[in-house]
Amino acid sequence: MKTSTDGNVSLVQLRRKESLVSADIEPPEILLERARALAVPATRPAAAPRPHGRTRELTRRGVLWLGQTCNLRCHFCYFLDRIEDKEHPEHPFMSLEKAQEICRTLVEFYGNDAIDIQGGEPTIWRDIHALIKYCAGIGLAPTLITNALVLDKRDKAQQFKDSGVADFLVSVQGLGKAHDLAVGVSGAHVRQMRALNHLIALDVPFRVNCVMSKLAVPQLPAIARLSVELGARAVNFLAFNPFADQRKEGARTAENVPRYGDLRGPLDEALDVLAQAGVEANVRYLPHCIVPERHWPSVYNYQQLSYDPHEWDFASWTWTNKGPQRMRAGAVSPPVPLGARPRLGRLRQPLLRLADAIDLRGRMLRADTDPRLGPVMRKLEGLSYRLFRRRGDRDAAYRHDALNRVEHNGYQKGAGCQRCALRDICDGFHGDYVAMFGTDEARPVLDRAPVSDPRAFISAQDKVAPARGEA
Ligand code: SF4
Repeated sequence: MKTSTDGNVSLVQLRRKESLVSADIEPPEILLERARALAVPATRPAAAPRPHGRTRELTRRGVLWLGQTCNLRCHFCYFLDRIEDKEHPEHPFMSLEKAQEICRTLVEFYGNDAIDIQGGEPTIWRDIHALIKYCAGIGLAPTLITNALVLDKRDKAQQFKDSGVADFLVSVQGLGKAHDLAVGVSGAHVRQMRALNHLIALDVPFRVNCVMSKLAVPQLPAIARLSVELGARAVNFLAFNPFADQRKEGARTAENVPRYGDLRGPLDEALDVLAQAGVEANVRYLPHCIVPERHWPSVYNYQQLSYDPHEWDFASWTWTNKGPQRMRAGAVSPPVPLGARPRLGRLRQPLLRLADAIDLRGRMLRADTDPRLGPVMRKLEGLSYRLFRRRGDRDAAYRHDALNRVEHNGYQKGAGCQRCALRDICDGFHGDYVAMFGTDEARPVLDRAPVSDPRAFISAQDKVAPARGEA
């Protein structure tokens, strides 16, 4: 990292500490009132009917990371270190040509019909409008995952509508100062509310993402109420996850990670607000037993993700997550089939720690662009995929891949989980959470036979129909 402030404390560490300063945050009701005044336009178009469905098929949505360049510094961001480090291979935005090639592969090889475009922050990328038009033209309905700062100007929002954006997934990380502290930029909340005002007035559909950080937790019911009033198509509550850069030593601590016992009440109330209003709610990466049974149709662990049309296809996600598809330098790598990751069991976490310690990903990214090493690495990769590829039932392959992801991310199950009827469809607790707080908050489900179908509860959820691409 080249961003040390005093040689000892990096800006990233500083951000994580700043995010804990929660003094002077006004009560949620007052912040909700103020947000409403900013975000609700004087006149709004009549709400169009929103088709819903209960079909749970494998998702065909892909994902693209344009580069880890952003105008905010969310303390829980999976890529916070790469965003701060301008010399990281994944930091700069890629070229339009490379992004188009990735999108074309998502359609032609993986059969995807929708895409989540992320940056960092995709709205600040020079070529975003050309890419939106390109995606819409090849049958890939484009969603932008955004903090929405750029959209606080009406003409900017109009431009995105004109380009053919399918919808926005807006990251509402709190209300008022809570949002500003979580994202590290003063005034971000006000700009975001103005942006939502424009989207509503222009009749551009949007959904809401909210990471359940310590700052956001007390505000979850207010965020749900605001989302209902603004006409959000869906609201996602995500755990603060130990993924990517947040896996690193010292990133998640007992100080900045909310206890499940503390988020249970506000989350339950927020889900009730959304259910009563008929707005789709999704809870991601949280054990089932942390929410009451009436809300299990909204709970998505790895086993359920593949059946959510707003989530990513594990097959194409595996490919776009590879270094060559996430950095400006070098060519894209050949597409790979699903399920080629071997299970490593208990060896996985020590090997991952070793890989982090020697910056294996960074080394491989640099080697990939080397004219001599790059082609050899790709041959080896192709060989390993042929060796490990799983054949047979497609749903089973996705379930197996879900297990790999659970293993990769170091989830753990406590003694109670071994008796729980949901143990085959629930991921359990994050490994570092167990180290910090244990598993006493688990409430094993003992009143029924073991549940093995990942769609058992989510099949009862009304989901808003996603935009699908038409070539
Ligand atoms: S498997 Fe464990 S974490 Fe998941 S619902 Fe059951 S008791 Fe809770």
